[in-house]
Amino acid sequence: MTPDARNAWLRTLGLTAAGLVIAGALGIVAGHFWPVLALAAVAMLGWQHWQLGRVLHRLGARRWPRLAGKRGAWDELDRLHDRDQRERRLRKRRLLEMLRAYRAAAAALPDAVVVVERNSQRIRWFNQAGAKLLGLHYPADVGAPLVPRLHPLPMAQWLASGRHADTIEVASPVSPAIRLSLRLIPYSENLWLLVARDVTRLLQLEQMRRDFVANVSHELRTPLTVIHGYLDMIDPDEHRALAPMLGEMQRQSQRMARLVEDLLALSRLESADGAPVDERVPMAPLLDTLRREGLALGQGRHRIVVENTAGVDLWGSGAELHSAFSNLVGNAVRHTPDGGQVLIRFRRDDGHQDGPAAEAGGVALEVIDSGIGIAAEHLPRLTERFYRVSNSRSRISGGTGLGLAIVKHVLQRHQARLEVRSRVGDGSMFSCHFTAARVRPPEPGASHPAPSEATQ
Ligand code: ADP
Repeated sequence: MTPDARNAWLRTLGLTAAGLVIAGALGIVAGHFWPVLALAAVAMLGWQHWQLGRVLHRLGARRWPRLAGKRGAWDELDRLHDRDQRERRLRKRRLLEMLRAYRAAAAALPDAVVVVERNSQRIRWFNQAGAKLLGLHYPADVGAPLVPRLHPLPMAQWLASGRHADTIEVASPVSPAIRLSLRLIPYSENLWLLVARDVTRLLQLEQMRRDFVANVSHELRTPLTVIHGYLDMIDPDEHRALAPMLGEMQRQSQRMARLVEDLLALSRLESADGAPVDERVPMAPLLDTLRREGLALGQGRHRIVVENTAGVDLWGSGAELHSAFSNLVGNAVRHTPDGGQVLIRFRRDDGHQDGPAAEAGGVALEVIDSGIGIAAEHLPRLTERFYRVSNSRSRISGGTGLGLAIVKHVLQRHQARLEVRSRVGDGSMFSCHFTAARVRPPEPGASHPAPSEATQ
């Protein structure tokens, strides 16, 4: 209780007690103590009830008078109630101001923001950018069902995935030249936030970057071929003094040629829209080719073992898959000291192996080496372009820094994933996991090694 309230309450209590004492005294003087006291008690009770009635009436009518100078407990009740009301009104005003400020901020956002009712999938609110980028009209579209309203965008399936909906990129219904990136954010039990961002400029810049890299690589190809050709024509035996320099020039020009080829391969993968050109990729001959390439690269100084326990073929782009797998084999050979082993294993990926659970019917191509290994901190960044564990080591091994980026792109285009496990000094394992959709039974009559057969 506040001091004011306590004083008011004590005052009322005092007045009641004083009233009763005076009534008692008057009763004694009049010779009717009990009747006068009872009359006074009934009168006071009546007065208190009248006061209570007044307060209740004012509360019901939402009216409370200014109470200057009044001091009883009922007046204090009025005053406290009045104070509460004023504080509540102030809080409400502040909340409303905040709400208005948030709405104004959301309305002014450059991204389209649409509040969607989850169950009915109806539009509850949208900002100005929603009108500009998605072609919504105010107020006609408030309360309209979202899916037909944003036709022809593929909204129905997308909304069906709800919380797990991925970001999608679509053309704006207003103009096909505007590309939008759509995100669905469930932010309360029954409301979703649909955010559409204009990524046209971003995509243009990305395309410019890709074109630039592809053009530069293409332009470098011809001069490099010429330099390479002339260097090959010079006989080091005729120019003994120049022989070391000639050797170095040849090595560097070859490295540059590999770099240009890898850059071109990457930009081809990036610019190839949609799915790769699918065909049956016979795995037995491909594994054999990989083994021979590995042996040639390591000049026979490594043991290369092929194990094909899957006995199936893949479905995808033969050229892309070959390039990805041979990058992995090349890396394994280049990072394994002479005398080491590289195992190329093609197996069923049924989730029995430890590691992330695999989809039933999938397969995995693994390249396992007994080489130098990679420290754990480098693993998450390995597939970035030009990311190298050690620059000097890479230069010596002749890598371009683009191999694993190519592998990642190829696998992405085949809905496959790359898993890397490695320990410094113990070697590395690069596994390409393919889903059942990418598996085909071997062609009848095709020669497939018996399960577990290994070739060296
Ligand atoms: P690079 O052409 O330089 O090999 P990659 O993108 O193919 O580039 O590989 C990135 C880095 O990953 C390499 O520089 C190398 O340090 C490391 N790396 C790749 N494969 C292996 C492996 N089998 N063993 C050890 N390190 C590897």
